This record gives sequence, C-alpha cells and structure tokens, in this order.
Amino acid sequence: MQQATIVDYRFDVLFGCPNCDYVFHYCSDIVPTEISTYHVCEKCDVALMVKPVVGKASFRKATKFKDKKVKNSITSMAKKAIKKYGFSSEEIDVAMSNVDAASMDLEDLIKKTLAMLGQKD
Ligand SMILES: [Zn+2]
Repeated sequence: MQQATIVDYRFDVLFGCPNCDYVFHYCSDIVPTEISTYHVCEKCDVALMVKPVVGKASFRKATKFKDKKVKNSITSMAKKAIKKYGFSSEEIDVAMSNVDAASMDLEDLIKKTLAMLGQKD
C-alpha cells in the first residue's frame, strides 16, 4: 500500500488569557509560525504575546509515540514484579494477553495478571 504524504495540515490553536481566562483561537491560516504576534484580549483588553506555533503535526506524532513507550514500560515493570512470585515469562505473557493491559495502571495490571495466574492453579 502506498503511503499518503502530508501536503498541508490545518488545526485550531486555542489560547487563553492569563489575566481573565478568556479563550480565543487561531486557525492554522493565521497562527504565527515564525515570529511572535500580539493579540489584545477581547474581554479585558490586555495585550498578549502569541508565540509562534511550530511543528504541530510532528508534535502529535511524538506524543502518541511517547504514550506507547510509557505503556510498554508499565507492561515490562509489571512482568518484572510478577516474576518475583515465581512465574515464568511464558506464563505471564499468556496471563497478560487475557487482561486489558492498555487500560490499566501498573498496580491494576499486576493484580489482574496475578489473578489470571491464580485461576489456572
Ligand atoms: Zn483577558
């Protein structure tokens, strides 16, 4: 399958006034990307500096990647912890494949996996 190439991307950037919490947005057509611009808050008339917004698309990608890495490290931390109970990697992998690891934090993952391992005996 051929990969689509990014030609352009459009997004809205929300900014908040630190003075009055008023929220205003810039769409990608007008958001500053190279030099800062100024925006006068519609609500409290304070002049605000709007810094350039760069690389939004790659930033999103990086965030996803980071989430995945964090999730992987939770899984491997859980495996290490469970191994201390005397289970083999194979047993742990089988048990973990039966729990919804993606939606759990470390503690839950360990508990649920141990519960699965306990059921087998
Ligand atoms: Zn304001």
